Amino acid sequence: MNDIKQISVTSIKGIGEETAQSLEQAGIRTVYDLLEYFPFRYEDYQLKDLSEVKHEERATVEGKVHSQPSLTYFGKKRSRLTFRLLVGRYLITVICFNRPYYKTKLEMGQTITVTGKWDQHRQTITVQELQFTPFKRNQDIEPVYSTKGDLTVKGLRRFVSLALKQYGDDVGDMLPHPIRIRYKLLERKEALKVMHLPQNHEQLKQARRRFVYEEFLLFQLKMQALRKIEREQAPGIEQRFDDKRLGKFVETLPFPLTNAQKRVLAEITSDMKSPHRMNRLLQGDVGSGKTVVAAVALYASILAGYQGALMVPTEILAEQHVQSLQSMLGKAGIRVELLTGSVKGKARRLLLEQVQSGDVQVVVGTHALIQDEVHFHKLGLVITDEQHRFGVEQRRVLREKGESPDVLFMTATPIPRTLAITVFGEMDVSIIDEMPAGRKVIETYWVKHDMLERILEFIDKELSKGRQAYVICPLIEESEKIDVQNAIDVHATLTQHYRGKWQIGLMHGRLSPDEKEAVMQQFSENKVQVLVSTTVVEVGVNVPNATVMLIYDAERFGLSQLHQLRGRVGRGSDQSYCVLMADPKSETGKERMKIMTETNDGFVLSEKDLELRGPGDFFGRKQSGMPDFKVADMVHDYRALEVARADAVQLVNSESFWNEDQYALMRSYLAETGVLDGEKLD
Ligand code: ADP
Ligand code: MG
Repeated sequence: MNDIKQISVTSIKGIGEETAQSLEQAGIRTVYDLLEYFPFRYEDYQLKDLSEVKHEERATVEGKVHSQPSLTYFGKKRSRLTFRLLVGRYLITVICFNRPYYKTKLEMGQTITVTGKWDQHRQTITVQELQFTPFKRNQDIEPVYSTKGDLTVKGLRRFVSLALKQYGDDVGDMLPHPIRIRYKLLERKEALKVMHLPQNHEQLKQARRRFVYEEFLLFQLKMQALRKIEREQAPGIEQRFDDKRLGKFVETLPFPLTNAQKRVLAEITSDMKSPHRMNRLLQGDVGSGKTVVAAVALYASILAGYQGALMVPTEILAEQHVQSLQSMLGKAGIRVELLTGSVKGKARRLLLEQVQSGDVQVVVGTHALIQDEVHFHKLGLVITDEQHRFGVEQRRVLREKGESPDVLFMTATPIPRTLAITVFGEMDVSIIDEMPAGRKVIETYWVKHDMLERILEFIDKELSKGRQAYVICPLIEESEKIDVQNAIDVHATLTQHYRGKWQIGLMHGRLSPDEKEAVMQQFSENKVQVLVSTTVVEVGVNVPNATVMLIYDAERFGLSQLHQLRGRVGRGSDQSYCVLMADPKSETGKERMKIMTETNDGFVLSEKDLELRGPGDFFGRKQSGMPDFKVADMVHDYRALEVARADAVQLVNSESFWNEDQYALMRSYLAETGVLDGEKLD
């Protein structure tokens, strides 16, 4: 069999150097690349029964010309031709723009097919294509490829056909026979042909089904193999500590733990005690109390004689965490210190020394923490907060710090299960699915921008009660500069509006760390009553006295992000409010605002977000580690994803997978992706 991954497209008969160069523009070099260049949609010329065609749908129908065409000109070149067509029992109107020549060609009673958009209300088709019957197409369903440079769809159709003709039978199949039988999956070469040249929709569905499973299975195999290999090759440390002493520490906390907190702590500490290395994701909605869990886990590590590190994405968060950890751990005589890019000079040198000697037991910091210059005496536990902002590679670097420390990743962005098992497929997952008792539900309102005056009045009332407010400015993803300018403008407006009454603070990404800290400090001491900010306050910021969150242009944010922002309020005992100011144009935009007002459940919102925005957008532009599936769709194919994951777990843990011939291709795939050498992740 030919190895089509090694064969250049130029060896396809009919494809020369020039075509090869065009193909190269779309990243197509080998026969394999060309065959894997799937259509992104199909043009459907199959004859339809009009009763099944939906309003505004594109369809091809066959009928008999039932009236003399009438032709109207607008100006010299533009014209409209209309006639009646009898399609089955329907007498419909056909409109052809700018094709006057049909007037003389069409004859009464003649059978023709027309393809175009069906207007059900007017019983009209606006023609894109008109054919005189009998007309034979090669394909009723034609593939449409995305094109680059001088490539055309027609050209690609031809090149793919040529490739299929010459090499179609050389397409190997990684999926062993028993798996294909179990799920009734098409053989790969069969499925590949169908993807490019489907005869009908059922066939296409089967071909897609096969590739969806394959993509998910291979991806999950990679994740599960990685998990297995890391477990076996990088033995963790057994952190032994006295449960009673840990229990005593928990009693010093200002509140009893929720059952969910207790449960996840049991999962975490059992990982820490085991000789395996912990690689766990802790999910919990905003305010569910993850920081406390982190503090207890860190304490456990210190009891066992190790140090701990907490890594967060922003300096503000780092500062807040230092404070809350100090308040919980300080009493037990533990030193918690901040290490960020802004700790400089002598202070930094001293701190690094104390980290290395073990005098400092817990270090909280940003990316600076993973720099080479930081050496721990005995690092036992690494926790990262809001880790979805860190890529897979960073997670790995972190795991490699110290003598294989246990690693806990915390996230407040509830991640839909399908995404969680994909992006974090190699991890164990713990979920805090319960809020501390006595929390008031945040009331959420959606208003139009013209309500601003009234909202400012409302905020004024809350401030008069001694409360505080956040105002989040429009977010323009493309330009930090405009984001900052917006914040400055809103700040000026509010300063003017509340002049002499309230202090307005301003926070954005262009401020220096010192300035940011000063602003946050003023806000948390209520020297500033309103904090105008870009989304830098999104994660983790904790000012319990703030009860109003106003978000400008809320339609620009994802649901998960809005939920995060909303989570900045409702942290104290007072009733809190979230006001979404938005004039969404689209139906989904409206739906998104509406659902925000209807639920406070982060997991419900995240599922909805995934559904409305798709997996690519889910984490926003900073996300990495998201696989690029060609055919599979995580939202619609989630059942296949679950199945593939279960199969992958079972496979990598079976003897036969590692030994039998039928899995040889899968093993070589894993080797190719580097997983088997432990070299790279994606
Ligand atoms: P998260 O990091 O998950 O958003 P935090 O750990 O910051 O949540 O906790 C949010 C607030 O709830 C904090 O003020 C914290 O002190 C409080 N809290 C945490 N756990 C409990 C609990 N079991 N009972 C009461 N309050 C709690
Ligand atoms: Mg937190």
